[in-house]
Amino acid sequence: MKDHLFTFMGTAAGCGVPSFFCDCPACTEARADPTLARGDCGVMIRRAGLPEAQTPTLLIDTPPDARHQLLREGVRHADEVLFTHCHFDHIGGLGEYEYLVGLVRGGQPLPVYASPAARDGIMAEFHYMDYCLDFTALKPFATHEFDGVRYTALPVTHAPGTYGYLIETDEVRLFYASDTGPLPPETARAVAGVDILAMDATFWKRNWNADAHHSVQECIEEGLALEANTIYLTHLCMHYDEPITYAELTDYLKRYDGRVKVALDGMTFPI
Ligand SMILES: [Zn+2]
Ligand SMILES: [Zn+2]
Ligand SMILES: [Zn+2]
Repeated sequence: MKDHLFTFMGTAAGCGVPSFFCDCPACTEARADPTLARGDCGVMIRRAGLPEAQTPTLLIDTPPDARHQLLREGVRHADEVLFTHCHFDHIGGLGEYEYLVGLVRGGQPLPVYASPAARDGIMAEFHYMDYCLDFTALKPFATHEFDGVRYTALPVTHAPGTYGYLIETDEVRLFYASDTGPLPPETARAVAGVDILAMDATFWKRNWNADAHHSVQECIEEGLALEANTIYLTHLCMHYDEPITYAELTDYLKRYDGRVKVALDGMTFPI
């Protein structure tokens, strides 16, 4: 039985959709229809069917929009946080958790997990939170288990020490890699044939940062080559290299007969 829920908390690349400085067609579309607005990337995995206070809750990344994302999903607590890497769009909301530790957890530090390089980067930014974070450094290919779900840290092609996480329940294998260029061979082997691939699809058309990100088409091609059953596009810029609206993108994806989907903030499915 699929007794956990996977939620896209945010699905944007860096500057969000709409970006405050942008009036492209994608940003105009998202201003008119807030269900198409995107905050920076993060996901949440929770047990299904329990009262809120007893629901084991793990988050991957703490994007700058974390507070709004947690409010939107009705989340009242968090048990653990895993980090993909230490760029602003993935850690900028960590400060919100200082209040959680002080006011809800009775001062008990929050368990957090990251690569050694990401941990160092996070602590350089959030040195004043040293007392409220209980850091565990995850080595590449290490597996961390929480509430019966296994999270394996797999190296990806981005900043040093960036991970994607292979998330496994008894029912589902899912690979979440919000920021990556072409997957390293060992990581590709480890995630071949996953049920669900949720991966970086930053650019539309030309990819001018191909060592660190995918374009929509590169994400789809790599996902199909991995024989992923379902591919979710996430970390979507929607502005660059050319703007594309949600309506245009979903229309374009019809050729894949439902196998390729566009992640949206708040989208949830059982795993
Ligand atoms: Zn825009
Ligand atoms: Zn990054
Ligand atoms: Zn990012």
